[in-house]
Amino acid sequence: MANASDIVARARRTGTLDGLPDGLFLDGAFRPAVSGARMESFDPGRASAFASFASGGADDVDAAVESAKKAFETVWRDTAPAGRGRILARAAQLIREQADRLAVAESLDSGKTLSEARGDVGGAARCFEYYAGACDKIEGRSLPLGADYLGYTLAEPVGVTAHIIPWNYPLSTAARGLAPALAAGCTVVAKPAETTPFTALMLAEILSQAGLPDGACNVVTGTGAQAGAPLVAHADINQVTFTGSVATGQSVMRSAADHVTRLVLELGGKSPVIVLSDCDREAALSGVMGAIFENAGQICSAGSRLVIERSIADGFVAELVARAARLTIGHGLDDPDMGAINSAGHLAKVTGFLDRARTRGAEILTGGTPTVDPETGKGWFFEPTIVGDRPADDELVQEEIFGPVLTVQIAEDADHALALANGTRYGLVAGIYTSGFGTAHRLARRLEAGQVFINEYFAGGIEAPFGGTKFSGFGREKGLEGLLGYCRTKSVAARL
Ligand code: NAD
Repeated sequence: MANASDIVARARRTGTLDGLPDGLFLDGAFRPAVSGARMESFDPGRASAFASFASGGADDVDAAVESAKKAFETVWRDTAPAGRGRILARAAQLIREQADRLAVAESLDSGKTLSEARGDVGGAARCFEYYAGACDKIEGRSLPLGADYLGYTLAEPVGVTAHIIPWNYPLSTAARGLAPALAAGCTVVAKPAETTPFTALMLAEILSQAGLPDGACNVVTGTGAQAGAPLVAHADINQVTFTGSVATGQSVMRSAADHVTRLVLELGGKSPVIVLSDCDREAALSGVMGAIFENAGQICSAGSRLVIERSIADGFVAELVARAARLTIGHGLDDPDMGAINSAGHLAKVTGFLDRARTRGAEILTGGTPTVDPETGKGWFFEPTIVGDRPADDELVQEEIFGPVLTVQIAEDADHALALANGTRYGLVAGIYTSGFGTAHRLARRLEAGQVFINEYFAGGIEAPFGGTKFSGFGREKGLEGLLGYCRTKSVAARL
């Protein structure tokens, strides 16, 4: 096997990765789409196509769901839990062994930096490792029905699960859905985003190499309309885990209603980072920088609003602006501080937010325009951007931009900060920087968010349940709650 630097050097030289999967993954093998249709995938750092992939449709979805249903009914749900665990543990090991190829594919496909992609691969391996250890710890309960009865619950796998995956964390999002579903005894049909198809296919192949039975994990690549919509509408899908935008999530919810299909919705966010005057300044500065500029801000849980106490705002924001201006931008494989925006369409969307903000008189403290890789003059990039204090009803405060754009909101005190933090329709994540133990935990209780990070934004890991409230969605992934989400409770009561 080529070593890490060879793989990266060759990908830099050739602009692609050898041996990328080029079919749909159905019933344990790569196959072309029934229609023969193909699409191109673009390298956002160069703004040019670097590979092509199969574009599936309703016929392919039917075949994938049939294969998943057969694998569920004939093999996987009855595979001993410890046996399922061994396969997932082997998958974790194989992900680590193939980390360099996975990271290069992810970086080329999404535009993220190699370091970020390596972090995602490590997280995916950790996810399989975590759920591998949980397969044989899914327990029911005994029910206290009295002396004349025996009552107990069974935690049964829900069946065939559909996973709709976005482009910002293609491998991590696939892993956090597939690992618990397979651990619970469910089978899978995954539909990656059309701009980032490859690592989900590579993951399916790895699972097969790890010993997963044919049909237990299928991947149909293609567009949302042609492959995603028929998948979520399929009568034999028992649960949909959707990660993506609010608008698409709402249409998925409507579609799932037709067959009363179980649903987890992981949608967008407009997450606040509250910085109070008694914070550890350095921790808060680096936390706020990472919260918005990691993955060029294309993170559902990005800290895209800085809610800061007035008494420290000027100096703190000035230092953020200086640090943002120093960030290097470039092709993901060159591993700069910040990579590309995933597509031309998304770059136009981010740019539109800043253009409209200018017309409203917003003070753009740094950045604010699209740019290119300084080495090549190519690619889809956006400058790290910070916008000065905006009113609570401003578009930059209310709407998810999903790019490297931080909007400042000035608060008079902790209570005001809480009100500003809760003042959007979203409720995914909130960050707090303060040395006040009581203040931090009082705020944590009152913040309308699925998860709260205190004194370290993005703290936690696979062990911590993750999901939204309000328009950020419902249901939880990660943690044991994520596993139990793929189980349905059956209670059994017997007269003795
Ligand atoms: P999107 O909604 O456009 O697409 C997401 C996925 O849905 C893609 O695979 C797409 O092909 C598919 N899709 C599109 N139309 C569909 C349909 N009618 N039926 C079924 N599937 C369909 O979102 P995006 O632009 O790819 O991703 C960005 C969004 O995802 C942001 O809003 C971001 O906040 C959100 N997101 C949320 C989380 C989370 O955990 N809460 C994580 C990552 C991204």
